[in-house]
Amino acid sequence: MPRSALITGITGQDGAYLAQLLLKKGYEVHGLMARRGSDTLWRLRELGIEPDVRLVNGDMIDLSSLIRALERSAAEEVYNLAAQSFVATSWEQPLLTAQITGMSVANILEAVRQVNPRARFYQASTSEMFGLAGTGRQDENTPFHPRSPYGVSKLFGHWATVNYRESFGMHASSGILFNHESPLRGREFVTRKVTDAVARIKLGKQKALRLGNVDAGRDWGYAGDYVEAMWLMLQQTEPGDYVVATGRTTTVRDMCKLAFDRVGLNYEDHLVIDPNLYRPAEIDMLRGDPSKAKAKLGWAPRTSLEELIAMMVEADLKRVARE
Ligand code: NAP
Ligand code: GDP
Repeated sequence: MPRSALITGITGQDGAYLAQLLLKKGYEVHGLMARRGSDTLWRLRELGIEPDVRLVNGDMIDLSSLIRALERSAAEEVYNLAAQSFVATSWEQPLLTAQITGMSVANILEAVRQVNPRARFYQASTSEMFGLAGTGRQDENTPFHPRSPYGVSKLFGHWATVNYRESFGMHASSGILFNHESPLRGREFVTRKVTDAVARIKLGKQKALRLGNVDAGRDWGYAGDYVEAMWLMLQQTEPGDYVVATGRTTTVRDMCKLAFDRVGLNYEDHLVIDPNLYRPAEIDMLRGDPSKAKAKLGWAPRTSLEELIAMMVEADLKRVARE
């Protein structure tokens, strides 16, 4: 019998890569899909796995649908990736973010506890929980100081996961993942906004790229590498919390330069700073220390930022040329 997994957020960037990874490993892959007015399956199609995953209708705020999804899938591994995941939106819709990104983690934990408390559970936590962490490297012992309603909501999900592990002995793990990107990243996030603009500017379809704070630094990795860490966490005898990062920080400005250089353009000729894109509170710098993941999971990032940006620019050049 193949092992069965349920992925919430299967239509998102990480959900698609994780589904691909689990299918390769021989899992029966189920995914929770929220009802939307427009098509959300493009990522699964781009990876060529849409026919291979089993989609269950449901929504993170509807406990009954989560119970049904767990019963139907008979999942032994549950990956909770669903969220309102865009930081900027979380200031405009803080209550919705709190409900979907925060409270819903309690919904899925409760559903797992009721349907199959022995199932292994993964929570998609984030470096945004560290927030105002200073200039050092963040690891599993760094204090949290979130800087957005998104970060605050994720902190609830993180502690709910730790609490269900401690209260009920559930195999519940929290992956504190630093920013990870790919050609399947949403266009609202800065890396994809940049690589999409680079492709459009190169092909004569756009002139300028408007960005906010380009001095912010992020520890960017490749989503394809990071989903392996999620799987590894659930294969451990004991559950735990793990920082997943590259340990290298690059500013938005330098990432931009990398992307424009790739197609032989000077970013300074196209970049326009738009103060409207500054955030009410910023995280100036993030840099993770993935030593624990390396030591315990044997995980290490395989893709450099240069390779990642090259991959994203190539994909966007092809997409824009097809339009
Ligand atoms: P994403 O592309 O924004 O995907 C989010 C997923 O959640 C989508 O499938 C979305 O479905 C689903 N979703 C949203 N609201 C829902 C609801 N009410 N009910 C059911 N599903 C819902 O995010 P991602 O980049 O793959 O990230 C995956 C997870 O990791 C998220 O929890 C994110 O916050 C977290 N994380 C991401 C990063 C990163 O750098 N990517 C870093 C740390 C943590 P639709 O397609 O229908 O909207
Ligand atoms: P985040 O780290 O989860 O908020 O990921 P984002 O990709 O949305 O943002 C990364 C950094 O880029 C943040 O410090 C943003 O303030 C900065 N940034 C600067 N300009 C932009 C922009 O136009 N869009 C986005 N999304 N971020 C920007």
